Amino acid sequence: MERAAGMTEEQTDFGFTTIPLDEKVRRVGAVFDSVSERYDLMNDLMSFGVHRLWKRFVVATCRLRAGQRVLDLAGGTGDLSILFAREVGPGGQVVLADINASMLDAGRRRVLDEGLVRGTGFVQANAEILPFRESCFDCVCIAFGLRNVTDKARALRSMYGVLRPGGSVVILEFSTLTVPALRALYDAYSFTVLPRLGKLIADDEASYRYLAESIRVHPDQESLLGMLREAGFEQCNYRNLSSGIVAIHQGYKF
Ligand code: SAM
Repeated sequence: MERAAGMTEEQTDFGFTTIPLDEKVRRVGAVFDSVSERYDLMNDLMSFGVHRLWKRFVVATCRLRAGQRVLDLAGGTGDLSILFAREVGPGGQVVLADINASMLDAGRRRVLDEGLVRGTGFVQANAEILPFRESCFDCVCIAFGLRNVTDKARALRSMYGVLRPGGSVVILEFSTLTVPALRALYDAYSFTVLPRLGKLIADDEASYRYLAESIRVHPDQESLLGMLREAGFEQCNYRNLSSGIVAIHQGYKF
């Protein structure tokens, strides 16, 4: 498992805080229990709606065809599941999986409200130990989820396992700015504006401070690329969006 300098094998990061490994799932769970009701509104406000564009890029990267099976892992409130369901059509299948019951509930309601009943499924699952049979998905996507997972290498191996040969994993995640001149502005926004917005809209300053911190300790573009290769993926590549605020990584299983 990837570990920051000074951490022991039994420790991991929770933003800038070092915590015992087995505490991370509970702490991350508390974040998403707290923000699930206001999650979508906060996403729109924090990103000025740009997260919708990033997700459109993700869908284009997945290159889905009618009839395929997709796993929207850490799918949360389901906006990507809805886009995927339209791509694969009624003969395909989209499974929204998330470890958190509140987020999964919000996702289920949203997907079903769109009338997407046939071909959609909802599973409470930890990305590190996916409860699906080997080689059963054409595509596995995880958007803004990997950062929150305790053992990312284990999760990547688990995703590899459930992909069919020829299928790909697509990861949308906050990453490292490619324009150093923007760093001061980005830091000011992340560490000052985001927590205040979190307090105002979701009555939760701490969760949005965790968001800013967790982005800073997440592996950068090249490190994540290496982790994908380590997990067995081939033809791995990435693309920066919005000057590296986010990156889309893709890797194939052959
Ligand atoms: N994919 C959605 C999106 O792009 O808006 C939701 C992303 S939200 C920031 C992160 C999601 O990851 C939360 O719903 C959280 O419950 C989920 N999550 C965190 N750790 C997880 C894990 N180990 N396995 C599965 N889901 C996890």
